[in-house]
Amino acid sequence: MEKSGKSKKRLTTAKELSRIIIEYYQECNQARGMGKPVGWMPPMNGGIEIFYAMDLQPVFPENWSPICAAFGLTPENFRVTEEMGYSRDLCGYLRNINGYVYGLMKNGGGPLGGLPEPDLIISPGAGCIPVMKIFHIMEERFPDAKVFRADLPQVAVEDIREDHLRYAVSEINRLIEFLTEATGRTLDRDRLAEVVMLSDRACALWDEIMAYRKSIPTPFSAAEIGIMFVMVTRQGTQTAVDYLTRVRDEVRERALSKIGVIENEKVRLFWDNIPPWYNMGLLNYFETMGGVMVAETYSAAWSLRLDVKNPIETLAMKSLMSYPMVSCVSIKKRKEMVLKACREYHIDGAILHSNKSCHPITLGQMDIKRALEKDLGIPSLVIDGDHMDERNFSMAQFQTRADAFMEMLLQKK
Ligand code: SF4
Repeated sequence: MEKSGKSKKRLTTAKELSRIIIEYYQECNQARGMGKPVGWMPPMNGGIEIFYAMDLQPVFPENWSPICAAFGLTPENFRVTEEMGYSRDLCGYLRNINGYVYGLMKNGGGPLGGLPEPDLIISPGAGCIPVMKIFHIMEERFPDAKVFRADLPQVAVEDIREDHLRYAVSEINRLIEFLTEATGRTLDRDRLAEVVMLSDRACALWDEIMAYRKSIPTPFSAAEIGIMFVMVTRQGTQTAVDYLTRVRDEVRERALSKIGVIENEKVRLFWDNIPPWYNMGLLNYFETMGGVMVAETYSAAWSLRLDVKNPIETLAMKSLMSYPMVSCVSIKKRKEMVLKACREYHIDGAILHSNKSCHPITLGQMDIKRALEKDLGIPSLVIDGDHMDERNFSMAQFQTRADAFMEMLLQKK
């Protein structure tokens, strides 16, 4: 198998994604020329709906990292960051975006037209430490941008109380005031309600698509998970709803016709942690032996339904919940989610990606491994790697472990 590679996609709609990615970055780069302020922000929070409702352009530096990985730019970005004195142990997203804004971007380079400079920066006061630090770096790199420092309680999903929610509501209102003052635009409440409705519709479609993956054989594997690009960048737009409707129709058709990802599905696998963006082909690795990556941790992050009747409250709740859904704010919750998914998707074995530069999502994996074995009798394999830095991944080691694991799973069948 190649050392690096793109994943093999079976869905026609997954192949359509490149057009959607190109159009999104074109829109980002044309925004300023059309008088639309550009704001950089972390993903997975209620800010995206507020931005689309106020006709502002949201840009997600974290999402730019997989793009850089796909275009083979990470080694150069890491080189710039390491020369600035940052440790190789830090989050790969942080090292990549820092290297990009101080390297290629300064020289006017980058794929898809590069990222437009921010007029606004939404700097988070929650999530993981690296994601907060990314935005501190951006504040220094773009001193002319107007900065909103968000402050949210770092609280596990199961511990969210009424007072946390009230505080998050006041933060959303403070964000709206900041954007109004910084851009001169006002928020039309009817337009916000419409955006929240579109956002919720996208979540409902997402859930429907994910549910079809429970079918045997599964019509959709983790190799197609790039479709979440629309959930990261387009939530609250008709574009996301239209695209996910087409994906849902195709997945449903395949499920009803019993068309699997491969012809003879023998073993159903689960992927824990962020995928290796520089080598998404790994998600197809097991297919020659009859193994399909049926589900993964990441997809649960987009299952948050919104209360369309209470737009501000629902966005506040989304801001409190989104990051903790996938990160380690609660290991207990993460363990529950993995076990639930493995049960519902009829999983035979789990791959636990021990991600060297993402501690929040890697922490707790040994607990998850024990629980899978004890509660469900599901064996798992720990793979050493990294979501961004391929220097932390050995293909030879992966192949040795993965082949032995598959052999064991096939014998168990
Ligand atoms: S959750 Fe992990 S990958 Fe995401 S920003 Fe934090 S450390 Fe990086």
